[in-house]
Amino acid sequence: MRTLPVRNPRTGEQDYRIAPLDADAVASRAATLRAGQPRWAALDPSARGAALMALAEAIGRRREALLAALCADTGRRAISALEIDGVIGMLNRWARQAPETIGRHSPATRPSAMTGITLSTRLRPYPLVGIISPWNFPLTLAMIDAIPALAAGCAVLVKPSEVTPRFIAPMMDAIHDVPGLSDVLDVVEGDGATGAAIVSVVDMIAFTGSVATGRKVGEAAARAFIPASLELGGKDPMLVLDSADPDWAAQVALRASVVNTGQACQSIERVYVARSLYPQFLAALTAAAAATRLNADAIDRGEIGPFICAKQAAIVQRQIDQAVAAGARIMTGGAVETLGGGLYLRPTVLVDVTADMEVMREETFGPVIPVMAFDGIDDAVRLANSGKFGLSAAVLAGSAEEAEAVAARLDAGAVSINDGALTSMVWDAEKSSFGLSGLGPSRMGEAGLMRFFRKQALIRQ
Ligand code: NAD
Repeated sequence: MRTLPVRNPRTGEQDYRIAPLDADAVASRAATLRAGQPRWAALDPSARGAALMALAEAIGRRREALLAALCADTGRRAISALEIDGVIGMLNRWARQAPETIGRHSPATRPSAMTGITLSTRLRPYPLVGIISPWNFPLTLAMIDAIPALAAGCAVLVKPSEVTPRFIAPMMDAIHDVPGLSDVLDVVEGDGATGAAIVSVVDMIAFTGSVATGRKVGEAAARAFIPASLELGGKDPMLVLDSADPDWAAQVALRASVVNTGQACQSIERVYVARSLYPQFLAALTAAAAATRLNADAIDRGEIGPFICAKQAAIVQRQIDQAVAAGARIMTGGAVETLGGGLYLRPTVLVDVTADMEVMREETFGPVIPVMAFDGIDDAVRLANSGKFGLSAAVLAGSAEEAEAVAARLDAGAVSINDGALTSMVWDAEKSSFGLSGLGPSRMGEAGLMRFFRKQALIRQ
């Protein structure tokens, strides 16, 4: 049996192993789930909701084991606890919301606009949905699409990242606590090869991860003739207009850039500041960044955790070094440190950056904050829209109205108004991904449920 080592991000030790499913094992799990799905789909939506609520309770009972696994996977505790609460919240919310939404989208028999024709609509869930997720929020991103898919009546095969797989065992224990649920929900260990095998056996795929892998998954889905919902990377800009308070803006920019040590698809990755505010903003940002603490000594202390993925630390360092070689200056941070075996980077404020530097164009996924001044709103909008991504953005101004007028010109699926990081938190905010940041219907809001159905029209004369 093939096995893979898993690195602990706090110690640097490979202290866990997984056994990635091969293609035959994937086919066998898929067959089991397909066999269970018709019974699940035939249940009343509120009965599926009851099972989702039971899973929420089971997760609550297994909180300690899940938390220990997530801490070992990611090297941070507070966000891991939030992930568990968040998934419990999602289960309860979809359990309540889905029956109402499904009812509203299944209108009773009605006359067509065409004379003499009578219509009705049936919602038919995709029988088997595959979920492939990344390492930055292991539990949340494994479950965020799985839950609405289950609520719709699909069976679901989930493959979390091989970088952060320890939570799979306690999660499966929780699933087994709910009678019948393991017939339609399986969370499996695996790497890219397992993911590729999953794409070839499911009826729909929901993928979260990098653009490079998303492109491969999209191509494989096209060959298999199945829909793919792709949630990919970003290079989110923040604009600080000249009407904003520079000290407050600096606090917001720091918080939104270093959230989860910058390992968040919707973290701020480049900041554009009105030239009149630039000196005061930069002084405040630099001071706040320098005061930020690492959690190397104690997992419960400090705002900055270790890099979850060692490869990412090397990518981030390379981007910083390239920027400096091309003329950028480091105001704080700048060098990955090894502490107790973990890889850490203090918040790194970069100035004298130019639009062509990799750190301004490519996803960084670390606590790096490149800052550039702009001259006038048109310049700001041009700079913000200059990249290939379009996940989300932020605009800070003296009033929400002024910020919204600029936000409406940005090529981004969601914009935080006078805040840095609202865009991933608001569950009923429907949004599209622009550019290379994704494809397919919104995962948030009602569309997040409806994408798991095909519509069948029954037409009578
Ligand atoms: P990744 O693309 O390397 O891996 C994601 C998943 O794809 C993993 O489970 C991996 O095993 C699997 N995989 C690899 N090759 C595959 C293949 N050929 N076929 C099928 N599956 C395959 O991404 P990552 O490094 O784990 O995560 C970081 C990326 O995720 C960043 O780019 C980040 O922006 C993105 N992300 C996006 C969102 C969003 O909602 N848009 C959220 C979080 C993270």
